[in-house]
Amino acid sequence: MKREVDLIVVGAGPGGSWAAKHAAKAGLSVLLLEKDREVGVPVRCAEGVSEKGLRSVISIDTRWIAQVIRGVRFIAPDGTKVDAYPGETGYILNRKLFDAALAEEACQSGAHLYTKANVTGLLMENGRTRGVRLRHIGEEKEIRCSIVIGADGIESRIGRWGGLNTAIAWTEMAACAQMTCCNIDIEPERVELYMGREIAPGGYAWVFPKGPRSANVGLGISGAFNPDKKALDYLKDFVSRRFPNAFAMTIVAGGVPIGRPLRDIVSDGLMLVGDAGRQTNPMSGGGIVNAMIAGELAAKTAAAAIKQGDVSVRKLRAYARDWTREEGRNNYLSYKFKEVISGFSDEDINQTARMLLKIPVEKRNAFNVFKAALIRHPKLVLEARKVFL
Ligand SMILES: Cc1cc2nc3c(=O)[nH]c(=O)nc-3n(C[C@H](O)[C@H](O)[C@H](O)COP(=O)(O)OP(=O)(O)OC[C@H]3O[C@@H](n4cnc5c(N)ncnc54)[C@H](O)[C@@H]3O)c2cc1C
Repeated sequence: MKREVDLIVVGAGPGGSWAAKHAAKAGLSVLLLEKDREVGVPVRCAEGVSEKGLRSVISIDTRWIAQVIRGVRFIAPDGTKVDAYPGETGYILNRKLFDAALAEEACQSGAHLYTKANVTGLLMENGRTRGVRLRHIGEEKEIRCSIVIGADGIESRIGRWGGLNTAIAWTEMAACAQMTCCNIDIEPERVELYMGREIAPGGYAWVFPKGPRSANVGLGISGAFNPDKKALDYLKDFVSRRFPNAFAMTIVAGGVPIGRPLRDIVSDGLMLVGDAGRQTNPMSGGGIVNAMIAGELAAKTAAAAIKQGDVSVRKLRAYARDWTREEGRNNYLSYKFKEVISGFSDEDINQTARMLLKIPVEKRNAFNVFKAALIRHPKLVLEARKVFL
């Protein structure tokens, strides 16, 4: 392992690998450090992406796709079923393969990947990040660099170590639990989303098919609702009602940031990408594509800054601006939607579902679904129009 490089990326998830790939392609010497022994494992994700989103960041290889999705079904608390987004394609990925493929692309572009490389601290000089401290297969090391990209996920410590305020209030976190269930009756090409305070207060439950009789079945509950049970207990209740014959092949828990975007994602010599920068969509909880978009933007700014010999926060803010323009603005709007929608009573949701049933199925696109949900909040509908049309 080199003692000094241009850029160190901490975490080989989608955000980190994509940043490493683009930085290496831009000519930087790049170290990609992953604490786990294997990239892509364990999977703490429902693995769903839209075709449009994925295609915007990478050319799609069918080997990573576990299941093609052709529609979404919303299920209201009273059982009303609303099919939506006909003609739109989505994928349930096999993230183990997907994450490994992204890391491989990073290496093929020239980045050096080390697994079992746990970053334990930052090297700081006069308040500026100058490298990392790590434990690699039992050995303590220090490596210097011009810029560190923290892509270390939801439990990120890199930002905090570098002086950024990345704290999330518990009201701005969704606690999630998920089982990959088999032996279940599903429509393999349709995602199901269940709403209601009894099922998932302040959030929703999902069924993301992974094959003809298996699916990622999970839910997220908002900390703001003071739920009286743990996410896993809500999930056990949901699975026993919806899929009484299911067997759980995996059970995972994890958090998703659903708050407003962070104020700062850069400091002198430091940038945050993906979940570490709280860049998931607060409405859907989706963060795979967002992390990759951010990774590529961060790499572009890092390459320009290093080549110009100026890695100050002022220079690195170009990345924060690019991110806000590309996705951050949408995330802020999604945050506002989520705030309104999570305040809906079960009866509000039932009424919205009945209203949607009056719209012909081929017109139930994202904009019309939001419009029906927000009919009493016309200002948000106007803002949404700017984003979706
Ligand atoms: C239950 C659940 C379901 C979800 N479902 C979806 C979904 O369907 N679609 C979607 O788009 N998103 C989903 N998400 C969100 C998605 O998983 C994340 O947004 C995405 O993984 C973010 O990528 P990332 O690269 O930022 O972080 P991660 O994928 O979390 O990668 C971070 C990496 O950093 C490594 N790391 C951490 N600390 C260190 C350290 N100190 N040193 C070295 N390495 C370190 C970790 O081991 C990890 O490999 C879900 C999340 C949860 C919890």
